[in-house]
Amino acid sequence: MSKHVPNKKNQNKKSAPKEITFKPGLTVADFAEQAKKPVGDVIKKLMFLKVMANKNQVLDRDNAELLAMEYNMELKDEVVTDVTRFDEMDEEDKPEDLVSRPPVVTIMGHVDHGKTTLLDTIRHSRVVSTEAGGITQHIGAYQVEKNDKKITFIDTPGHAAFTEMRARGARITDIVILVVAADDGVMPQTREAVDHAKASKCDIIVAVNKMDVPGANPDRVKQQLADLGLLSEEWGGDIPFVHILALKNEGIDELLETIQVVAELQELKANPKRLASGSVIEARLDKGRGPVATILVDNGTLRVQDFFAVGSTYGKVRAMNNDLGKQIKEAYPGQAVEIIGLDDVPQAGDPFKVFEDEKVVKDIASERQDRAFNKEHSQKETMSLEDFFNQATGDTKKMNLIIKADVQGSIEAFRGSIGKIDVEGAEIEIVGSGVGAVTDGDILLAEASNAIIIGFGVGVPGSVRALGKEKGVEIRTYRVIYEALDDIEAAMKGMLDPVFEEQVIGEAQVRETYSVSKVGTIAGCMVTNGIVKRNAIAKIVRNGKIIFEGKIGSLKRFKDDVKEVRQGFECGITIENYNDIKEGDIIEVSTMKEV
Ligand code: GDP
Repeated sequence: MSKHVPNKKNQNKKSAPKEITFKPGLTVADFAEQAKKPVGDVIKKLMFLKVMANKNQVLDRDNAELLAMEYNMELKDEVVTDVTRFDEMDEEDKPEDLVSRPPVVTIMGHVDHGKTTLLDTIRHSRVVSTEAGGITQHIGAYQVEKNDKKITFIDTPGHAAFTEMRARGARITDIVILVVAADDGVMPQTREAVDHAKASKCDIIVAVNKMDVPGANPDRVKQQLADLGLLSEEWGGDIPFVHILALKNEGIDELLETIQVVAELQELKANPKRLASGSVIEARLDKGRGPVATILVDNGTLRVQDFFAVGSTYGKVRAMNNDLGKQIKEAYPGQAVEIIGLDDVPQAGDPFKVFEDEKVVKDIASERQDRAFNKEHSQKETMSLEDFFNQATGDTKKMNLIIKADVQGSIEAFRGSIGKIDVEGAEIEIVGSGVGAVTDGDILLAEASNAIIIGFGVGVPGSVRALGKEKGVEIRTYRVIYEALDDIEAAMKGMLDPVFEEQVIGEAQVRETYSVSKVGTIAGCMVTNGIVKRNAIAKIVRNGKIIFEGKIGSLKRFKDDVKEVRQGFECGITIENYNDIKEGDIIEVSTMKEV
């Protein structure tokens, strides 16, 4: 490796990097390499932070962050393109078109800690009221204004909705407010909320509520959250803590200001000049008006009369209402609006996108309605230990785990041992852990994070097992740690004797062809079903007959080579050793998959 070139090494010594890029699975050794520090030095620093680790141990984000701080470096998250969202597959926005957009905030926390009260208090005292006495309507989200800047609140407290949406690929929240009652402290759902918020990489603000109740002990809350890795700013961490009295409307201004400070740092930008894209927050069938959905506009401007695809349905915006029940003609990034004009009722979390052409939205919708495909697709999204080795994404295979145990000691022991499993090209991340039986919340987190649940000496209630089955989440229980470790290691090494079978993963329709010297024929395609992947098997279907079978050579979105392109997007495809491709051909794409 180039780091052994002597003169380079000297240069490196002089210019220690300012940043460390964090990605799940980052090990102590990876950290040392990026930081250009000896591994032993990093291990020592970790010991100082009370973390016992060897060089192959995977660092969680918090420890990596603390470690980076020790070295005066900044920890940055690796930027990952989320291909399940329409907007990120689109053309890039020009920097001059980008303007700031309001942050989108979700409130989470344990039951009875005051989430609903907080949402109501904020709404009643501060909703942007354009008309005197504007009455707020429940549409699933509302906007408030503070210092002439807007904040959008998702109006469904609790993490079930949040996680359901995330499981469907929607990443709509920028900031999570974690409400903790000062008298009650950290409770099971507080812990779950922390896991969810961390897994979604949202910034967290802690609102310590019920400061008026006898027995209120905000310092205890601070300590308990520090134990979960949320270190308050006062204690040298980066989590803002705000003391509030949700019921009496106290501390709310400070909370809103804190949200704005955090949002400022996130530099949230959007381009109001483009066609709108976003996600469904709520949807229902209204007796009088037909299907109604609340859309959170993520980018672009949504207008009455726009054609859109949403989930597996489509429509044309016939009318829009804002959170004050007022009819509006345009909605901007960060704003939630209730729309009518849908063909069918979509699901919360479904992606939404406007297209210029009505035909395109209908095409996308009809392909998505292919139930068989959807079913197969949803099965593919969740993971089991057996199919771990067959992940087709990227070079490094990743296993996310949620650990439940009867005692904290088992969790720690497992964490320690898992770090010793060293299989090249495979990495493990523990996305959640806790003491006690497996819960519905664990299933939702596992679904959203594509994780496997491992239990030690804990039960799985029947209803939870049923939910796991429904969501396709694998739950494995063990009595002893080493048995779990053996299974995991075997799965990582791909020793579970896979049997392969060809499986269709998508279809693309050839809309145009271009002939380029040296390259051959490039087919301009629309992916009409599933997903197209580079190096996958391609069958050219003409008039219902397979006329050629080969491999996808190159796959491009605009000018860029990409690994995969999903349904509803255009792409350029070349087929290895085949140039006779014609407009109207269907390219059927398949891969070898374990059965
Ligand atoms: P949620 O389950 O988290 O949505 O909690 P709620 O908002 O329903 O609140 C639970 C209870 O706590 C209700 O009876 C509220 O009136 C009460 N509550 C909320 N905020 C405060 C507060 O600041 N002080 C006191 N004393 N009670 C509060």
